[in-house]
Amino acid sequence: MENVPVTRQNSNEIDEFLDGAASFADLMFGFMDENNDSDEKNFGDFIGGDTEDEILVEQRRIFWETQEQLLQASLFRTTSLESRIRQATKEALRELDTVGVQCVCRRPVAGYCRKCMQRELSVRLQSLGFNCYICKSKWKSSPEILSGEHTYLEVLDKSNPKKGDVRVVIELNFRAEFEMARANEDYNKLIAPLSELFVGKTERLKAVIKILCVAAKKCMKEKKMHLAPWRTHKYMQTKWLGTYGRTTSAPLPVGISDLQQKPKASMLTFDLRENLPAMHYTAVEAVW
Ligand SMILES: [Zn+2]
Repeated sequence: MENVPVTRQNSNEIDEFLDGAASFADLMFGFMDENNDSDEKNFGDFIGGDTEDEILVEQRRIFWETQEQLLQASLFRTTSLESRIRQATKEALRELDTVGVQCVCRRPVAGYCRKCMQRELSVRLQSLGFNCYICKSKWKSSPEILSGEHTYLEVLDKSNPKKGDVRVVIELNFRAEFEMARANEDYNKLIAPLSELFVGKTERLKAVIKILCVAAKKCMKEKKMHLAPWRTHKYMQTKWLGTYGRTTSAPLPVGISDLQQKPKASMLTFDLRENLPAMHYTAVEAVW
């Protein structure tokens, strides 16, 4: 695929391309998902002649290559809106890294405080003219899904009345959300190029989540282990795409940060993954 710079003129084409990529992904997943053994047999007939082992190896290779291609296609070309938000977010994070983020929680968190980082970032994005909100999704346990909650940021763009509100999700710990302690090499290779910061429209996020969750499921199946309930497609989708509440954060009153003599946490140098729920879960996952 060629690397074409994104301009306003081609952003519509890119939208169309992305829609295409998403439906292509759906097609592929419709075929590959859900442990369909009969599909595997048909696939063998299709190749013809090879031994069962060779077929399985080939089938496996195709699966992982396809996921990689789908992921690249889903992440590759972004609209000018997404690019602007991503650029602004990166600059704000750099700035926050320089000045430091003060944790002003009732029980201050040593080191990196996700909550305070999200607040500071949303204030900065608002000051740059973006409708930035802090979103919180929270859901109950059901036979289909384990209960949970998640906070992240979003920018709501209302600049194009024809398109209606466009929602762009900002997740600061994206890759870490998909890391698995017991993953196989192919899964690790798949998620390695993901950056910690995700900025993208909900359609893009939806496509990416699906690719990663199908891969996680396949990976655990290959290892003959259960997929942890907080790794399922439904759970991951609910985190960012389920029902949520949004709040706007106001800047802290002047002087409050001087009262809190906390050591500053570096966003860029600190290993974010250390403090993430995903890592907390990993310990459980090891015995799952
Ligand atoms: Zn805090």
